[in-house]
Amino acid sequence: GADRLKGTEKNVWVEFGKLAVDYKALNLGQGFPDFKPPQHVIDKMVHAVDGSDNALLSQYTRSYGHPRLVNVLAKLYSPLMGRTLDPMNNITISIGAYGVLFCAIQGLINPGDEVVIVEPYFDCYEPMVKVAGAIPKYVPLRPIKKEGVLSSDDWKLDPVELESKFSAKTKAIMINNPNNPVGKVFRKEELEMIANLCKKYDCICISDEVYEWMIYDDNKHLKIASLPGMWERTITMGSAGKTFSATGWKLGWGVGPDHLIKPMQVLHQNCIYTCPTPIQEAVAEGLEYELSIQDKKEECYLTSLALELKPKRDALAKSLTEIGMIPTIPDGGYFMMADISNLNIDIPDDGTKDPYDFKFVRWLCKEKRLSVIPPSAFYNQEHKNLGEKFVRFCFIKKDETLAKADEIFKEWK
Ligand code: PMP
Ligand code: GLN
Repeated sequence: GADRLKGTEKNVWVEFGKLAVDYKALNLGQGFPDFKPPQHVIDKMVHAVDGSDNALLSQYTRSYGHPRLVNVLAKLYSPLMGRTLDPMNNITISIGAYGVLFCAIQGLINPGDEVVIVEPYFDCYEPMVKVAGAIPKYVPLRPIKKEGVLSSDDWKLDPVELESKFSAKTKAIMINNPNNPVGKVFRKEELEMIANLCKKYDCICISDEVYEWMIYDDNKHLKIASLPGMWERTITMGSAGKTFSATGWKLGWGVGPDHLIKPMQVLHQNCIYTCPTPIQEAVAEGLEYELSIQDKKEECYLTSLALELKPKRDALAKSLTEIGMIPTIPDGGYFMMADISNLNIDIPDDGTKDPYDFKFVRWLCKEKRLSVIPPSAFYNQEHKNLGEKFVRFCFIKKDETLAKADEIFKEWK
């Protein structure tokens, strides 16, 4: 293989996805729903594929995004960005948020540039930045010390530590808001602190907001791109897979100013060219419908999904607390971190030099038939210790699936 791939061979989804299947484990690991996307979006996909209205929907569409899709995305995001978006030049489509991240990192970052990455981070940021020849600089969210259950809001960036990662070489900072795996929804003051550093060090912000609609309680999701002086220097990412509970559809979008979107489109046009037309058509029509009912919070999927997920989040937190784990209650997203240090389980040596959470998660899958994710995968080598006393649970699952997990815990106690 190419030298640039050295050190990126391991992948947590590949290992733990397979383990879950091999052991027929109950799967609260990799993030995907075990229920169907909204029926109207499925119907639109079937209709797009059957071609009864338009046979061309099975052929290539515009490279940078199917016109119907970029048009509705411009309508959806203009109010949230606080400006009128140009669908052709401010939006670009790629293969999932992964594809958009790839276009941004390859399209905007030079070898030798430094990229500040907030930990814990969605794992692909690290290899993508390294494969681009850039140098990652990591800064962790640190949970405040307190007794009992934590909130994702208790995980904070230290302003001094954060600024110490910036220099004249910094090209970008990558944030994930809401954060996977912590569920943190960044507050206005926190985003302002990041924005001020972007301006001071003249760098861009890559803001991965794929969980933007899953916001609980009274929390509000704010786009860093909407802060003063940030539109010009921010790429914001979204995902149809997360928005419509259809992770296998793999369609994502980047939103930003022309000068940042253009290089991403250049990369995409030559490496991917275009994304599947029927998927783009169905997602476009689905979003048009959701926009038309956006004032009906309990009907519009963009708001109703979070209402549906909140009791699941609370049920899982209760199960975890009962068994002696200390959960961090997420303000957003569909993952929950839980501190396992009080469990005192003797994990057999599995012959690897991996962090404790990897061993714990392998043991849990093999012995208890429950699949979860080891969060040290979301930290760089030097900071794995910050993640290894936690595990990550996914709660976008049927109530019966979460009830089965609770049974596993009860039997184990
Ligand atoms: N970013 C985050 C934070 C994610 O959790 C995911 C989930 N896979 C992605 C990006 C990638 O999204 P997609 O499936 O649309 O490629
Ligand atoms: N984003 C999902 C998660 O965090 C899935 C990632 C993947 O499968 N590559 O679980």
